[in-house]
Amino acid sequence: MTKYADQSALNLIAGEPVTGKEEWEIRNPARTSQVVGRVSVATFEQVDDAAQAAAKAAPEWAAVPVAERVAIASAAAAIIEQKAGELGWDVLLTREQGKILPEAVVEFAFAQIEAQYINTVAEQVFADEVLDDWAGRRISTRVPIGPVAAITPWNAPVGLSALKLFPALICGNPVVLKPAPTTPLAITRVVESIAHLFPPGALSVVHGGADVAQALIHHDSIRKVSFTGSVANGKSVMREASQGLKDVLLELGGNDAAILLDDVVIDEDFIEQLIGATFMSSGQICMAIKRVYVPQSRHDEFVTALSDALAMTLVGDGLDEDVTMGPVHNKMQYDRVRELVAEARAAGAAITPLGRMQAEINADDGYFLLPSVVTNVPHSTRLVLEEQFGPALPVIPYATEDEAVRLANSTDYGLGSSVWSADVDRAFTLSRELQAGATWINAHNMSGLDISCAFGGFKQSGIGREFGLAGLEAYTEFRYLTNRMQ
Ligand code: NAD
Repeated sequence: MTKYADQSALNLIAGEPVTGKEEWEIRNPARTSQVVGRVSVATFEQVDDAAQAAAKAAPEWAAVPVAERVAIASAAAAIIEQKAGELGWDVLLTREQGKILPEAVVEFAFAQIEAQYINTVAEQVFADEVLDDWAGRRISTRVPIGPVAAITPWNAPVGLSALKLFPALICGNPVVLKPAPTTPLAITRVVESIAHLFPPGALSVVHGGADVAQALIHHDSIRKVSFTGSVANGKSVMREASQGLKDVLLELGGNDAAILLDDVVIDEDFIEQLIGATFMSSGQICMAIKRVYVPQSRHDEFVTALSDALAMTLVGDGLDEDVTMGPVHNKMQYDRVRELVAEARAAGAAITPLGRMQAEINADDGYFLLPSVVTNVPHSTRLVLEEQFGPALPVIPYATEDEAVRLANSTDYGLGSSVWSADVDRAFTLSRELQAGATWINAHNMSGLDISCAFGGFKQSGIGREFGLAGLEAYTEFRYLTNRMQ
């Protein structure tokens, strides 16, 4: 007997729960023998129903004044805030995703913070800009773009879905959400609790895998595809969306470099920041630190301080309050991280696993990996050049800052990055050399994120921006109205 009620996630179409063609089991990554719930996979007809309902709701929702849409979104955010803890959605998120409970709580808080920020600037996006110039009087305006397909990954299923739902809806667009098939439960609870605030069809959810996502992307009613996920699937989304010449917003993978300068202060606070930015969610965050570049002269001191602190890690079931790091989310991720680490070891790297496994867990019944520090690693290994998305951190010594910048830029990714130094001006100067959508100084990942700044990737880390005004404008069409030239 388990003390948790079995959870199910149905599709939600035009305000109604709808059973799909089959059910997939959702298992707990910390106890894979445990079924957390079931998800009902949508048929293509149901995808069509959801997209058609979105098209039907579009004019009505777009006609609601921005201030009213903002008020509705605020009410939705308040419901999420109230119910997440009260109804145990945070516990559910930990059980389906694997992350420790405090991180699940942060994810719900993140959803509300996003909504609040967007609410404060939404009117600004739609304000007419009146221009008088050589051609006479012109007015620039923005209008909703139309029904949006929001396709989201498993690593932050609530936060990353909210990051699409709130801006798209506040900008007057209906949304059909397609969550990741292995983390549908908590986000479905969220959508079920707020969908009634919007016109029927303005907020729907369809469940399933790539085929359901593709059916949605192809649907004639969809005008924008907002996708967060892997680079390979992002390319496929872009290819498919191009068939209907649809706008895309792609938030893809990252291989973020952190560069430590030679004056960095290696104290408790710094190590705590760095570990949080790297190993949060077992390293499965797009903008987590994935590589560290350290001056040769500070290498051993840094590795010792990092290893001493990581030795305190307790890996296990994220619901246990003593546990500081959960499992990785799925078997594919578990195998991939182990494979990349084994490849690095074969290439001569030294792998140091740190911390310990919780005594109560069955290590064979979960995707548990101890955090590892990887030294003496050739830069050409996949562990350095690709996104490992797991708790194994390569530490790479450098001789000059030019070399550090060259190595940091030598990947196909360009999402986040950071420079750590006692001299902020010096760090800012170097930051301009990095090819990434964001460079944080003495911060990285959640500690660096500023929701008023547009965030997104260079190179293969994506197209478009979320957060900031640009993150709202992404869900609008720009147009201008003008009288005849004088
Ligand atoms: P994924 O690409 O496997 O899946 C993401 C979503 O896309 C899921 O809903 C999935 O069902 C759907 N999907 C899968 N194949 C598809 C296809 N061919 N066409 C359309 N949709 C498809 O990603 P994941 O493994 O769930 O998430 C991890 C990846 O997401 C990592 O690479 C990570 O860096 C990235 N990510 C990026 C950001 C960012 O903001 N840049 C944030 C979080 C995660």
